[in-house]
Amino acid sequence: MLLANDGIFPVTKDKNGHPIPSAPASGFDIPGTIQGEGKLSGVPSLFVRLAGCNLHCCWQAANGKPSPCDTTYAAYKLQGAHSMTIEDIYQTLLHNTPPIRHIVITGGEPLLQAAELSILCYKLKDAGFHLTLETNATLYDKEVAQYIDLFSLSPKLVSSHFKASSAVQRLCPEKIQAFIDDTQETEKDFQLKFVYSCENDITEIRELLRQLHGWKSEDILLMPLGGNPEILRINIQKTLEQCLRNGWRYCDRLHISLFGDKAGV
Ligand code: SF4
Repeated sequence: MLLANDGIFPVTKDKNGHPIPSAPASGFDIPGTIQGEGKLSGVPSLFVRLAGCNLHCCWQAANGKPSPCDTTYAAYKLQGAHSMTIEDIYQTLLHNTPPIRHIVITGGEPLLQAAELSILCYKLKDAGFHLTLETNATLYDKEVAQYIDLFSLSPKLVSSHFKASSAVQRLCPEKIQAFIDDTQETEKDFQLKFVYSCENDITEIRELLRQLHGWKSEDILLMPLGGNPEILRINIQKTLEQCLRNGWRYCDRLHISLFGDKAGV
C-alpha cells in the first residue's frame, strides 16, 4: 500500500517490535495520540495515513490568502510517500497499540486503495480494533465499509476549491447516502463533517442535507477552517454561531490546539 510520509503514527516500534530511534512527533516516548476531530474526539488512537487524493482542496482564509489542505504532502503534493505491505502495516500496529483500541484510517483519500485496504481492515477488525474511516465521500466501497465502525465523511463544498479545480465530482450525495444506509439498524455510526469558511457553505450544506435521509442534527459537524492555531482562532466564533443557528454539532480541531500544525500527531 502507498502510505504518506507520516504513514503509521505515532509509533515507537517497527514491524518487528524493535524500538524506532526517533521519538514520535507527539513528544511522548509512548505510541499513540488522540483523535482530534469529531464524535470520538479525545479518544487515544493510532493513525494510518494513506497517500494520494482525488481532490485538490484549497480554501480562502479570512485574510484573502489561500489556505490549502492541511495534508498536501499526503494528498496532491506527495512528499515522502512510501510503500509498505499489508502484513508489515498490520504487525506495526499490533506492536504499538496496547492499550489503544482505536485505529483511524485517513489520507489523502483512503478509498483510492480500496482493494488492499479491505484486506487490512479485515485483519484489524478480526483482531478486535475499532476502525474509523476518514473519507471525502466521493468514493464508496462495500468491501471496506463492512469492517468500519465509524464513517467520518468530509464532503467538500465549493469553497474548498478556491483557485483550484478538480476533474472529480466533489459532492456525491448517492455515495454519502450509501455510507449512511450502512449504519442504519447496526452498531455502526457516521458523522458528516464540514469545514466552515463562509456563508455560502451553509446554503450548500442545507441543500445537500435535503437530498439525504437517515441523519440527525448531532451527526452534522461544522469545523472551523484552519490548519494552524492562528487561522483556527479567527474562525472559531463564526463557526460556533452557525452551529447554534442550525442545531449542528461544533467540531474542534483538538490536535491543533494540543500539538500545533505539525504532522504525525
Ligand atoms: S479531500 Fe481531504 S485530503 Fe484530499 S485534498 Fe481535500 S482536504 Fe486534502
